[in-house]
Amino acid sequence: GNDLLAGKRGLIMGLANDKSIAWGIAKACADAGAELAFSYQGDALKKRVDPLAAQLGSDIVLPCDVGDEASLDALFDNLKEHWDTLDFVVHAIGFSDKNELRGRYVDTSRGNFALSMDISVYSFTAVVQRAEKMMSKGGSCLTLTYYGAEKVMPHYNVMGVAKAALEASVQYLAEDLGKDGIRVNAISAGPIKTLAASGIGDFRYIMKWNEYNSPLRRNVTTEDVGKAALFLLSDLGSGTTGENLHVDAGYHVVGMKAVDAPDM
Ligand code: NAD
Repeated sequence: GNDLLAGKRGLIMGLANDKSIAWGIAKACADAGAELAFSYQGDALKKRVDPLAAQLGSDIVLPCDVGDEASLDALFDNLKEHWDTLDFVVHAIGFSDKNELRGRYVDTSRGNFALSMDISVYSFTAVVQRAEKMMSKGGSCLTLTYYGAEKVMPHYNVMGVAKAALEASVQYLAEDLGKDGIRVNAISAGPIKTLAASGIGDFRYIMKWNEYNSPLRRNVTTEDVGKAALFLLSDLGSGTTGENLHVDAGYHVVGMKAVDAPDM
């Protein structure tokens, strides 16, 4: 362990199980001395999140559906009963109908477009809006994005469009809150096998392609993401805001299939 987050309090949103990116981040934060609270989406997840939170010494485990304003208000009202201030918040949440994470983007329905934008984009702004009020001493807000925002990736479709909007919102939020010492950043993670990722078509193929063609010739882990998050959430990131930090084994700099990559 280290003491990079000693005395700091952070809310982790989006923990579903021990494969979640939120879990890698939570472990890195706890290891750095942070006190943590967790929010989970629905009753079905509570029994998974309770023991994981306990493992990191946290008993603040609160429900929140980010698609619902009243539920978001309730989360922050609940949190205020435990803590008067908040130092950081991690938003590791996204959603789209998996039937539209295959096939053609052009066939996206209006309903799923709106839902994907609501849960995967607006919810971060809605969270930061509320977290800001508890960050009187400054703070750090973090969300998770993917390279499919910048370039066309197979099957990512409407989520690519949503992540592009999320990345733009990180920049606007960073400008709004910078004067108050609140930093807002994103991590663009390489493909990791999680519950959410299993909804994406041909995900195994995408992982193999990334492994063979990224400069580090491997996929990233939730531990890799956790370490980068620790930088952005702690004082190590004191000069960094509005940033999109790629934790993708360098894949985003590659312009062509590697000459040593096997045929797939
Ligand atoms: P995950 O399934 O473990 O986490 C997704 C979380 O979103 C779950 O905890 C789920 O409960 C939550 N969620 C969905 N709708 C919600 C709602 N309405 N209210 C509250 N919570 C809701 O998968 P993950 O891969 O760890 O995803 C976390 C973030 O990382 C997502 O934004 C995802 O797009 C992003 N990301 C994932 C990858 C990857 O390859 N796994 C790569 C880059 C970015």
